[in-house]
Amino acid sequence: MKNHVQWESSLFELIRRTSVDLPCDIEQGLRRACKTEKKASRARWILETLLENVQKARDKDAPLCQDTGSLIFYFQVPVGFDTNALVSATRLAVARATRLGYLRQNTIDSVSGAACATNVAYGAPTFYFEQCARGTVDVRLLMKGGGCENVGKQYSLPDESLGAGRDLEGVRRCVLDAVISAQGNGCAPGILGVCIGGDRATGYECSKSQFLRKLDDKSSVKILARLEDRLLKESKALEIGPMGLGGNAALLGIKIGSMSRVPASFFVTVSYMCWAFRRRGAVLTVRGGFKKWLY
Ligand code: SF4
Repeated sequence: MKNHVQWESSLFELIRRTSVDLPCDIEQGLRRACKTEKKASRARWILETLLENVQKARDKDAPLCQDTGSLIFYFQVPVGFDTNALVSATRLAVARATRLGYLRQNTIDSVSGAACATNVAYGAPTFYFEQCARGTVDVRLLMKGGGCENVGKQYSLPDESLGAGRDLEGVRRCVLDAVISAQGNGCAPGILGVCIGGDRATGYECSKSQFLRKLDDKSSVKILARLEDRLLKESKALEIGPMGLGGNAALLGIKIGSMSRVPASFFVTVSYMCWAFRRRGAVLTVRGGFKKWLY
Protein backbone atom coordinates (compact mmCIF):
# COMPACT_ATOMS: atom_id res chain seq x y z
CA MET A 1 0.00 0.00 0.00
CA LYS A 2 1.40 3.38 -1.01
CA ASN A 3 0.84 6.61 0.95
CA HIS A 4 1.35 5.13 4.40
CA VAL A 5 1.53 8.65 5.84
CA GLN A 6 -1.82 9.59 4.28
CA TRP A 7 -3.45 6.46 5.72
CA GLU A 8 -2.04 7.02 9.18
CA SER A 9 -3.15 10.64 9.12
CA SER A 10 -6.77 9.82 8.10
CA LEU A 11 -7.05 7.01 10.65
CA PHE A 12 -5.55 9.19 13.38
CA GLU A 13 -8.19 11.86 12.66
CA LEU A 14 -10.91 9.20 12.88
CA ILE A 15 -9.61 8.14 16.31
CA ARG A 16 -9.29 11.73 17.53
CA ARG A 17 -12.81 12.62 16.46
CA THR A 18 -14.27 9.44 17.93
CA SER A 19 -12.59 10.10 21.27
CA VAL A 20 -13.60 13.75 21.71
CA ASP A 21 -16.83 14.29 19.76
CA LEU A 22 -20.02 12.41 20.62
CA PRO A 23 -22.03 11.58 17.46
CA CYS A 24 -24.96 13.90 16.78
CA ASP A 25 -27.65 11.17 17.00
CA ILE A 26 -26.49 10.17 20.50
CA GLU A 27 -26.26 13.76 21.71
CA GLN A 28 -29.80 14.37 20.45
CA GLY A 29 -30.88 11.18 22.24
CA LEU A 30 -29.41 12.53 25.50
CA ARG A 31 -31.25 15.85 24.97
CA ARG A 32 -34.55 14.06 24.33
CA ALA A 33 -34.02 11.91 27.43
CA CYS A 34 -33.28 15.03 29.48
CA LYS A 35 -36.66 16.53 28.53
CA THR A 36 -38.49 13.42 29.72
CA GLU A 37 -37.11 13.74 33.25
CA LYS A 38 -38.78 15.94 35.87
CA LYS A 39 -37.33 19.42 36.37
CA ALA A 40 -34.89 19.62 39.30
CA SER A 41 -34.79 15.80 39.52
CA ARG A 42 -31.54 13.92 40.04
CA ALA A 43 -32.03 12.21 36.67
CA ARG A 44 -32.32 15.54 34.88
CA TRP A 45 -29.28 16.92 36.67
CA ILE A 46 -27.21 13.88 35.64
CA LEU A 47 -28.24 14.23 31.99
CA GLU A 48 -27.54 17.97 31.99
CA THR A 49 -24.10 17.25 33.44
CA LEU A 50 -23.42 14.64 30.76
CA LEU A 51 -24.42 17.12 28.05
CA GLU A 52 -22.07 19.73 29.56
CA ASN A 53 -19.33 17.11 29.54
CA VAL A 54 -20.02 16.42 25.85
CA GLN A 55 -19.65 20.12 24.98
CA LYS A 56 -16.51 20.56 27.08
CA ALA A 57 -14.82 17.54 25.48
CA ARG A 58 -15.57 18.95 22.04
CA ASP A 59 -14.40 22.48 22.94
CA LYS A 60 -11.23 21.35 24.70
CA ASP A 61 -10.41 18.60 22.18
CA ALA A 62 -10.21 16.16 25.10
CA PRO A 63 -11.50 12.58 25.53
CA LEU A 64 -15.19 12.29 26.48
CA CYS A 65 -14.32 9.85 29.26
CA GLN A 66 -11.11 8.87 31.03
CA ASP A 67 -11.72 5.28 29.92
CA THR A 68 -11.07 5.43 26.20
CA GLY A 69 -12.11 1.81 25.92
CA SER A 70 -11.28 -1.03 23.56
CA LEU A 71 -10.90 -0.01 19.94
CA ILE A 72 -12.87 -2.03 17.39
CA PHE A 73 -12.32 -1.19 13.70
CA TYR A 74 -14.72 -2.37 10.99
CA PHE A 75 -13.30 -2.03 7.47
CA GLN A 76 -15.11 -2.54 4.17
CA VAL A 77 -12.48 -2.70 1.44
CA PRO A 78 -12.42 -3.26 -2.32
CA VAL A 79 -11.83 -6.84 -3.47
CA GLY A 80 -8.10 -7.70 -3.31
CA PHE A 81 -7.16 -4.74 -1.08
CA ASP A 82 -3.98 -5.10 1.03
CA THR A 83 -5.45 -5.43 4.53
CA ASN A 84 -2.07 -6.19 6.16
CA ALA A 85 -0.87 -2.73 5.27
CA LEU A 86 -4.12 -1.29 6.59
CA VAL A 87 -3.53 -3.05 9.92
CA SER A 88 -0.01 -1.57 10.11
CA ALA A 89 -1.24 1.96 9.35
CA THR A 90 -4.03 1.64 11.91
CA ARG A 91 -1.61 0.48 14.60
CA LEU A 92 0.64 3.47 13.92
CA ALA A 93 -2.38 5.78 14.17
CA VAL A 94 -3.42 4.19 17.49
CA ALA A 95 0.10 4.62 18.91
CA ARG A 96 0.14 8.28 17.84
CA ALA A 97 -3.32 8.95 19.32
CA THR A 98 -2.08 7.41 22.59
CA ARG A 99 1.08 9.52 22.57
CA LEU A 100 -1.00 12.67 22.06
CA GLY A 101 -3.50 11.85 24.84
CA TYR A 102 -6.58 11.09 22.74
CA LEU A 103 -6.36 7.53 24.06
CA ARG A 104 -5.45 6.56 27.62
CA GLN A 105 -2.81 3.86 28.05
CA ASN A 106 -5.67 1.42 28.36
CA THR A 107 -4.19 -1.89 27.30
CA ILE A 108 -3.00 -4.29 29.99
CA ASP A 109 -1.05 -7.54 29.65
CA SER A 110 -3.53 -9.99 31.17
CA VAL A 111 -0.81 -12.24 32.63
CA SER A 112 1.82 -9.81 33.92
CA GLY A 113 -0.52 -6.88 34.57
CA ALA A 114 1.90 -4.56 32.77
CA ALA A 115 0.47 -1.55 30.92
CA CYS A 116 1.20 -1.19 27.23
CA ALA A 117 2.48 2.28 26.34
CA THR A 118 1.08 2.35 22.80
CA ASN A 119 -2.26 0.48 23.04
CA VAL A 120 -0.95 -1.79 20.30
CA ALA A 121 -0.75 -5.41 21.46
CA TYR A 122 -2.14 -8.84 20.67
CA GLY A 123 -5.90 -8.28 20.30
CA ALA A 124 -5.61 -4.50 20.59
CA PRO A 125 -7.02 -2.95 18.54
CA THR A 126 -9.54 -5.41 17.11
CA PHE A 127 -10.13 -5.58 13.35
CA TYR A 128 -12.97 -6.81 11.15
CA PHE A 129 -12.60 -6.82 7.37
CA GLU A 130 -15.17 -7.33 4.67
CA GLN A 131 -14.42 -7.26 0.94
CA CYS A 132 -17.06 -5.43 -1.09
CA ALA A 133 -17.50 -4.47 -4.74
CA ARG A 134 -16.62 -0.82 -4.21
CA GLY A 135 -13.90 1.68 -5.01
CA THR A 136 -13.52 3.16 -1.52
CA VAL A 137 -12.48 2.02 1.95
CA ASP A 138 -15.21 2.52 4.55
CA VAL A 139 -14.00 2.42 8.13
CA ARG A 140 -16.07 2.52 11.30
CA LEU A 141 -14.66 2.71 14.81
CA LEU A 142 -16.21 1.82 18.15
CA MET A 143 -14.46 2.77 21.38
CA LYS A 144 -16.07 0.40 23.85
CA GLY A 145 -15.75 1.36 27.51
CA GLY A 146 -14.82 -1.26 30.10
CA GLY A 147 -17.53 -0.46 32.65
CA CYS A 148 -20.32 -1.05 30.15
CA GLU A 149 -18.54 -4.13 28.78
CA ASN A 150 -18.75 -5.60 32.28
CA VAL A 151 -22.55 -5.53 32.32
CA GLY A 152 -23.02 -7.37 29.01
CA LYS A 153 -24.73 -10.77 29.40
CA GLN A 154 -25.25 -13.93 27.41
CA TYR A 155 -28.16 -16.31 27.93
CA SER A 156 -28.61 -19.90 26.79
CA LEU A 157 -32.28 -20.67 26.21
CA PRO A 158 -34.36 -22.22 27.58
CA ASP A 159 -33.68 -20.50 30.91
CA GLU A 160 -35.98 -21.78 33.66
CA SER A 161 -35.06 -19.06 36.14
CA LEU A 162 -36.45 -16.44 33.72
CA GLY A 163 -39.25 -18.59 32.34
CA ALA A 164 -37.61 -17.91 28.98
CA GLY A 165 -38.24 -20.36 26.15
CA ARG A 166 -36.74 -20.49 22.69
CA ASP A 167 -38.90 -17.78 21.15
CA LEU A 168 -39.14 -13.98 21.00
CA GLU A 169 -40.91 -13.85 24.35
CA GLY A 170 -37.88 -15.67 25.77
CA VAL A 171 -35.61 -13.08 24.10
CA ARG A 172 -37.70 -10.28 25.64
CA ARG A 173 -37.29 -11.77 29.11
CA CYS A 174 -33.52 -12.03 28.68
CA VAL A 175 -33.16 -8.40 27.58
CA LEU A 176 -35.26 -7.15 30.50
CA ASP A 177 -33.23 -9.29 32.86
CA ALA A 178 -30.02 -7.73 31.49
CA VAL A 179 -31.42 -4.23 32.09
CA ILE A 180 -32.56 -5.10 35.61
CA SER A 181 -29.23 -6.78 36.44
CA ALA A 182 -27.23 -3.80 35.22
CA GLN A 183 -29.29 -1.39 37.41
CA GLY A 184 -27.72 1.57 35.62
CA ASN A 185 -24.15 0.31 36.15
CA GLY A 186 -22.00 0.74 33.07
CA CYS A 187 -22.89 4.45 33.04
CA ALA A 188 -26.52 4.64 31.97
CA PRO A 189 -28.19 5.88 29.87
CA GLY A 190 -26.75 3.61 27.25
CA ILE A 191 -27.73 1.58 24.23
CA LEU A 192 -28.21 -2.19 24.08
CA GLY A 193 -26.99 -4.28 21.16
CA VAL A 194 -28.70 -7.67 21.11
CA CYS A 195 -28.04 -10.77 19.02
CA ILE A 196 -30.50 -13.64 18.77
CA GLY A 197 -28.66 -16.82 17.78
CA GLY A 198 -25.06 -17.38 16.69
CA ASP A 199 -22.61 -19.13 19.02
CA ARG A 200 -20.97 -17.74 22.17
CA ALA A 201 -18.33 -15.80 20.21
CA THR A 202 -20.31 -14.67 17.17
CA GLY A 203 -23.24 -13.71 19.40
CA TYR A 204 -21.11 -11.03 21.04
CA GLU A 205 -19.65 -9.93 17.69
CA CYS A 206 -23.13 -9.51 16.22
CA SER A 207 -24.50 -7.77 19.31
CA LYS A 208 -21.66 -5.22 19.22
CA SER A 209 -22.07 -4.64 15.49
CA GLN A 210 -25.60 -3.37 16.28
CA PHE A 211 -23.87 -0.28 17.73
CA LEU A 212 -22.94 0.73 14.18
CA ARG A 213 -26.61 1.48 13.56
CA LYS A 214 -27.82 5.04 14.14
CA LEU A 215 -30.06 5.64 17.12
CA ASP A 216 -33.16 6.23 14.98
CA ASP A 217 -32.50 3.16 12.82
CA LYS A 218 -35.27 0.55 12.96
CA SER A 219 -34.68 -3.12 12.26
CA SER A 220 -35.71 -4.02 8.71
CA VAL A 221 -37.30 -7.15 10.20
CA LYS A 222 -40.67 -5.83 11.33
CA ILE A 223 -41.12 -8.21 14.24
CA LEU A 224 -37.69 -7.22 15.60
CA ALA A 225 -38.42 -3.52 15.08
CA ARG A 226 -41.57 -3.95 17.19
CA LEU A 227 -39.59 -5.80 19.86
CA GLU A 228 -36.98 -3.00 19.95
CA ASP A 229 -39.75 -0.42 20.57
CA ARG A 230 -41.53 -2.52 23.15
CA LEU A 231 -38.38 -3.26 25.13
CA LEU A 232 -37.37 0.39 25.17
CA LYS A 233 -40.77 1.36 26.61
CA GLU A 234 -40.62 -1.46 29.15
CA SER A 235 -37.10 -0.54 30.23
CA LYS A 236 -38.27 3.04 30.91
CA ALA A 237 -41.09 1.73 33.10
CA LEU A 238 -38.51 0.03 35.34
CA GLU A 239 -37.54 3.54 36.56
CA ILE A 240 -33.86 2.66 36.85
CA GLY A 241 -32.86 5.98 35.28
CA PRO A 242 -29.48 7.57 34.50
CA MET A 243 -26.64 5.97 36.49
CA GLY A 244 -29.29 3.79 38.18
CA LEU A 245 -30.41 6.66 40.43
CA GLY A 246 -34.06 6.68 39.32
CA GLY A 247 -35.91 8.18 36.37
CA ASN A 248 -36.99 7.18 32.86
CA ALA A 249 -33.79 7.11 30.90
CA ALA A 250 -31.86 3.94 31.70
CA LEU A 251 -31.54 3.41 27.94
CA LEU A 252 -31.52 5.58 24.83
CA GLY A 253 -32.08 2.72 22.40
CA ILE A 254 -32.16 -1.03 21.82
CA LYS A 255 -30.92 -2.58 18.57
CA ILE A 256 -31.62 -6.24 17.86
CA GLY A 257 -30.00 -8.40 15.18
CA SER A 258 -30.12 -12.13 14.55
CA MET A 259 -27.90 -14.92 13.26
CA SER A 260 -28.56 -18.53 12.39
CA ARG A 261 -27.88 -21.14 15.10
CA VAL A 262 -27.51 -24.89 15.46
CA PRO A 263 -30.47 -26.96 16.72
CA ALA A 264 -28.84 -27.60 20.12
CA SER A 265 -28.18 -23.93 20.99
CA PHE A 266 -30.23 -20.78 21.31
CA PHE A 267 -28.14 -17.89 22.63
CA VAL A 268 -29.33 -14.39 23.36
CA THR A 269 -26.41 -12.00 23.74
CA VAL A 270 -26.74 -8.51 25.15
CA SER A 271 -23.94 -5.96 24.83
CA TYR A 272 -24.19 -2.62 26.55
CA MET A 273 -22.67 0.67 25.43
CA CYS A 274 -22.62 3.59 27.86
CA TRP A 275 -23.70 7.21 27.29
CA ALA A 276 -20.12 7.92 26.07
CA PHE A 277 -21.15 6.19 22.88
CA ARG A 278 -18.03 6.66 20.81
CA ARG A 279 -18.82 5.57 17.27
CA ARG A 280 -17.57 7.27 14.15
CA GLY A 281 -16.89 6.31 10.57
CA ALA A 282 -15.40 7.65 7.37
CA VAL A 283 -15.26 6.91 3.67
CA LEU A 284 -11.66 7.01 2.46
CA THR A 285 -10.17 6.78 -1.00
CA VAL A 286 -8.07 3.72 -1.85
CA ARG A 287 -5.02 5.93 -1.25
CA GLY A 288 -6.20 6.84 2.25
CA GLY A 289 -7.53 10.31 1.45
CA PHE A 290 -10.62 11.54 3.28
CA LYS A 291 -13.93 11.63 1.34
CA LYS A 292 -16.69 12.05 3.94
CA TRP A 293 -17.83 11.21 7.46
CA LEU A 294 -20.33 8.41 7.92
CA TYR A 295 -21.88 9.66 11.18
S1 SF4 B 1 -18.68 2.83 31.09
FE1 SF4 B 1 -18.43 4.45 29.56
S2 SF4 B 1 -18.82 6.39 30.60
FE2 SF4 B 1 -18.52 4.80 32.15
S3 SF4 B 1 -16.34 4.97 32.69
FE3 SF4 B 1 -16.53 3.40 31.10
S4 SF4 B 1 -16.25 4.47 29.15
FE4 SF4 B 1 -16.64 6.02 30.71
